[in-house]
Amino acid sequence: MPRSYVHEARKRVGPKKARVRPVIERLAIEHADAKIALSFRSPLELLISVMLSAQTTDVNVNRVTEKLFVKYRRPEDYLAVPVAELERDIFATGFYRQKTKSLRGAMQRIIEVHDGEVPESFDDLLKLPGVARKTANVVSAERGNAQGIVVDTHVRRVSQRLGFTKQEDPVKIERDLVKLVPREDWARFPHLLIWHGRRICDARKPQCEICPLASDVCPSSRI
Ligand code: SF4
Repeated sequence: MPRSYVHEARKRVGPKKARVRPVIERLAIEHADAKIALSFRSPLELLISVMLSAQTTDVNVNRVTEKLFVKYRRPEDYLAVPVAELERDIFATGFYRQKTKSLRGAMQRIIEVHDGEVPESFDDLLKLPGVARKTANVVSAERGNAQGIVVDTHVRRVSQRLGFTKQEDPVKIERDLVKLVPREDWARFPHLLIWHGRRICDARKPQCEICPLASDVCPSSRI
């Protein structure tokens, strides 16, 4: 996009501080069903699902965990089977060797340090082997204790198109977003952008003609 066009578009829609509220409100109406796509019934199942979701789709994870969570009910269960058996049981999520190592390490620490319960604190989650910032963010947000904003490929793309960030690095994007998005919306904001990215603001073919943000709040609108 030529610089002058970008400048004009930014001028047309106004400052991002003033746009973030209408963006959230409109997306909340458009995607009223936006929520985490992983299936889980407990904090432990949530943590395992999020750990398994790296580099694969939520649909794929749900397919695997449907059987996994029948067989593995407590943290101890993940340590009670031979490594090769757990690897086989999560094989379809990809990167199964690394994921098995992470799962077992996390379960070990949960048993030894947290009496078998998934810790509530963000810092304690981060200390679990194989749990990076993104996983800790998702788990905390789903438990009503959002500590940041989860940035995936949809959140990155849609935030950039909305002019909410110019960054490429997820950590820097999150830094921009937490300054902009009201704290009470930290948990739902990524879900709204993820669903918007999947349904309307497609990577290659954004459907601006049916987008509720097109006319006045999106500087990248093609209409
Ligand atoms: S107006 Fe177009 S580019 Fe902007 S958010 Fe909507 S679909 Fe994406």
